[in-house]
Amino acid sequence: MNFKDLGLSGPILRAITFENYNKPTPIQISVIPKFLNNDDIIGIAQTGTGKTAAFVLPILERLIKKNTKNIEKKFPVLILVPTRELAMQIVDKISIYGKIIRPKTVLVVGGAKPGPQIKSLKKGADIVVATPGRLLDHVQSKVAILSETNTIILDEADQMLDLGFMPSIKSIISNLPKDKQSILLSATMPKSVRMLADSFLKNPQEINVAPAATPIELIDQRVFLVKREAKIKFIQDIFNNHNIYKSIIFVRTKIGANKLAFKLNKLGIKVDAIHGDKSQSQRNRTLKNFRISKLNILIATDIAARGIDIEDISHIINYDMPNDSEIYVHRIGRTARAGKNGMAISLCEISEKKKLQSIENLINYSLNATVLNISDNLVLDKIKQNINFKNKTNDININKKSKSIKKKSTAKLFNKKAKKRFAKKRKKKKSEEVQNFSPKNNNKIFSDEDKKTNNNKTVFKKKNRNRLLKNRFKKGRKEFNLDSSFSGKF
Ligand code: AMP
Repeated sequence: MNFKDLGLSGPILRAITFENYNKPTPIQISVIPKFLNNDDIIGIAQTGTGKTAAFVLPILERLIKKNTKNIEKKFPVLILVPTRELAMQIVDKISIYGKIIRPKTVLVVGGAKPGPQIKSLKKGADIVVATPGRLLDHVQSKVAILSETNTIILDEADQMLDLGFMPSIKSIISNLPKDKQSILLSATMPKSVRMLADSFLKNPQEINVAPAATPIELIDQRVFLVKREAKIKFIQDIFNNHNIYKSIIFVRTKIGANKLAFKLNKLGIKVDAIHGDKSQSQRNRTLKNFRISKLNILIATDIAARGIDIEDISHIINYDMPNDSEIYVHRIGRTARAGKNGMAISLCEISEKKKLQSIENLINYSLNATVLNISDNLVLDKIKQNINFKNKTNDININKKSKSIKKKSTAKLFNKKAKKRFAKKRKKKKSEEVQNFSPKNNNKIFSDEDKKTNNNKTVFKKKNRNRLLKNRFKKGRKEFNLDSSFSGKF
């Protein structure tokens, strides 16, 4: 089976070849033909299995067929997702898969200024990607008119319900035409999601590419039973003694995320945190740095647990066990994406044992937790599958950090010496000044000639000092191997 057999045409096929997608994934094989057949769909798929392309590709195919180029675009397609990050990611994917078709897409999420969204919504678009709360604001203010929306996709439906979006979703759906196609996708399918599906899908085609809540087999899961106060020590063990390329450390609370970030940075392990109390621009910046590997360790609350598709995350660390066992599946699903391998390490407190049991009940197998005392070392034997992550490690980060600390201390030393020298000079200068203004000279009115010579003296001294400083900085730069393009002015 290839993409062409699924009913996709030239411009889309060319775009996905560019992405090196040779074969469709199981969810794509199941969803794309049914989507193009106008069926309602309820899809359960593991994270990282190609769910986004499964619904974005047929949307684009339909746009080609309809040739909507010059038609007023009143949002034929609406994609609802639980988080701003996921919404942005979907918009990115639309522009990648649609690079030849160039659909008009509007992103409608909270945390961003409403003005530009209003402007774009008024102009119309082929696809709206939105989080429910902000979209509902625009619906209620009659900026987003959904009467012509004939396809709605709810991605990560279970998280939307968990986050309390149910009333907003219901309100949004009530503004859509009765005759529409509805697609509901989720990695897990609790009763509440099934009830939502039953309430608005018509004879849905059920797609279940993997049993609900089964973590990807490629994830090597390790669980350690530890005391809370020992967790920070074990986190250090993990990063100091192992090759961790890119990892997310999950914590339960925003405060917990900030605290852990502070502690690890202090210990020389460079991290940044993302959670709901950070501004949208901070969240975007942190995620971008993590995506481009400027940052290798991200601390996150469950806001980042789902849908975020960042390549080459080698490790997931559960610093806190999640409250909800299904969240565990989403968290660890951030690694081992697109057929790669990954490892999930959970530091489970004795008091969290019940949470561990409910995770094991959900996934239907034991995670063989190992008990660790604070005096033990957390040692991870080799990852079970061959891991094809680049051979970058956080040891590099740590080394870099300690190097910079070394530099700083040398710089401090240099500054100290320089300060001493300047202090001596200042003292000398002061005593000269005191001499000039000594009672002997106090009443003396300077002649113009004297003033001139004094001025010349100061200019000369200034020039001399500048030359001295310049030389010293030049030496310093050499000592610290800094770039040679320096042209300081004093
Ligand atoms: P998703 O589950 O949609 O977040 O996708 C997970 C990852 O799989 C993304 O990095 C996609 O680029 C990638 N992907 C999606 N479809 C395919 C495919 N047919 N072949 C290879 N990679 C894919």
